[in-house]
Amino acid sequence: MPIQAHSGSAKGSLRIIPLGGQEEVGRNMTLFEYGGDIVILDMGMMFPEEDMPGIDYIIPNISYLKGKEKNIRGVILSHGHLDHIGAAPILLRQLGYPPIIGRDMTLAMVKKKLEDFEKGSAQNLKTIRVKSVEDKLRLGKFEIDFFEVEHSIMDAVGVIIKTPDGTVIHPGDWTMEKTPDGKRLVDYSHLSKLPSPRILMLESLGAIVTNPSRTTEEEMYHNLEKLMSEATGKIIIGTFSSQIRRIGHILEYAEKIGKKVALDGYSMKMNIDIAKELGYIKMHKETLITVNDLHKYPENKVVIVCTGAQGEGNAVLSRIITDNHRFIKVKKNDTIVFSSSVIPGNERTIQRLKDNLYRKCDNVIHSDIMDVHTSGHCSAMDIQELLRQVRPDFFIPVYANHYMLKEAEKLAVRIGFRKENIFVMDNGHVLEVQKGGAKLLPKKVDTSYVMVDGLGVGDVGQVVIRDRQVLSADGMFVITVILDSKKKEVVGNIQITSRGFIYVKDNFDLINETKRRVQKAIKDTTSKKTSPEKKFIEDNIREVVGLYLFQQTQRRPMVLPVIIEV
Ligand SMILES: [Zn+2]
Repeated sequence: MPIQAHSGSAKGSLRIIPLGGQEEVGRNMTLFEYGGDIVILDMGMMFPEEDMPGIDYIIPNISYLKGKEKNIRGVILSHGHLDHIGAAPILLRQLGYPPIIGRDMTLAMVKKKLEDFEKGSAQNLKTIRVKSVEDKLRLGKFEIDFFEVEHSIMDAVGVIIKTPDGTVIHPGDWTMEKTPDGKRLVDYSHLSKLPSPRILMLESLGAIVTNPSRTTEEEMYHNLEKLMSEATGKIIIGTFSSQIRRIGHILEYAEKIGKKVALDGYSMKMNIDIAKELGYIKMHKETLITVNDLHKYPENKVVIVCTGAQGEGNAVLSRIITDNHRFIKVKKNDTIVFSSSVIPGNERTIQRLKDNLYRKCDNVIHSDIMDVHTSGHCSAMDIQELLRQVRPDFFIPVYANHYMLKEAEKLAVRIGFRKENIFVMDNGHVLEVQKGGAKLLPKKVDTSYVMVDGLGVGDVGQVVIRDRQVLSADGMFVITVILDSKKKEVVGNIQITSRGFIYVKDNFDLINETKRRVQKAIKDTTSKKTSPEKKFIEDNIREVVGLYLFQQTQRRPMVLPVIIEV
């Protein structure tokens, strides 16, 4: 009998609650609740949007877990990318350090993240090491199994979460790599034998990639190797620090052709250290040199791997291109390789970066010219192929923007999947699964942004962000008035300070007229026999000045009247 999505009682059911990752790329975190037990999958962070000035990053909101900390049986981490582990230092501490479960690379990266965040905090970690995908775990009423997946980082693992009411299958991030002759490397069809109802939660970033590049991982490496061996000057490769497998390959190949490699970028060096320690990169330690030793080697004997292929202002590649790097200067005969895909939103910055680069260097290679990147994610066809292999009862596309999830839904429907058995969930939605079916509960849990700025977690809210937006758009205008509290008269001069609005010295007329209007506004509000509140006078000044400045300039700076009563 086919399983239907319909209602049932809430007792003894599995609840699936995504706290993040359903309406964005990043801050991935999902709760699984069964009776009194909770298992968490991933604790990711997200980089801020353009309209969140000054915010360092965003983490999942865990207010749903307040008071339920003791029910948390474990936190499974699918792999070591920041959108899966980046929030762990903050959230693990807030939750009283529940045990974390993952493979070696992932656990080592979390440990390093914790130490970076707060020295000594890694000793609080309780870890359960997944030695192989054959391992089995019991976490409260949950039975946890694992399966092999392919992704652009070592030790990514797929997770199976079994309960008496349903089996969740979650590959984390995944791709479906093929050999040059088109054979798939990993087969998922064994997952179709898991107990029903099977709920497939599938990372669907690739749902919109309907025309994937035909380049295989092997061809990409071949292209990189060719560039490395043929370079007549030094070769600079810009990539993501998370592309550990690729950087490892570059190191191993450089050694083979007798070149030295310098890594630049804090997180990149850290990631490669971990991979080396775990034995995932096999090389002599002399192959790796520091950037300050680059000058000791002939230019055609060095490879530089650095971060910043997305044009991030402070990252290494930008500093090299703008001549702000202490040790690396670009020459015409150097080779510069962009080995990363463009993150949507960064297009313009990268174009500017390339313009500057083409002025300095004759050999700039990027994926439009030669495929020197393959994505670590699936394509639309891969999603359909995986659905065919796993044959789930319910399909939940995850870890992508809403429109991608909707596209994944369409892909499933196109190969015969019933729409009522697909759930495109928002952050905070609660899906209840029972033997008889699954349904979305009407109420969502709170998943509002928790923003991290410097040492502050969650203390910057909408009000602060709105102020920052105004300040960044039109600047600020401060009016300081000393007021005789008895006579209600202005004492001395009115002081005007402008930041990011106008240059005071070039605008004396505007400033003087503003001062005159402030005088008048104070007179108007205080001339009556009443003794008005300071705030009342300030509000009045703000209104009068704001209106005047807008009439004169068509700009709306933040107007801040400050009255000091003497
Ligand atoms: Zn990933």
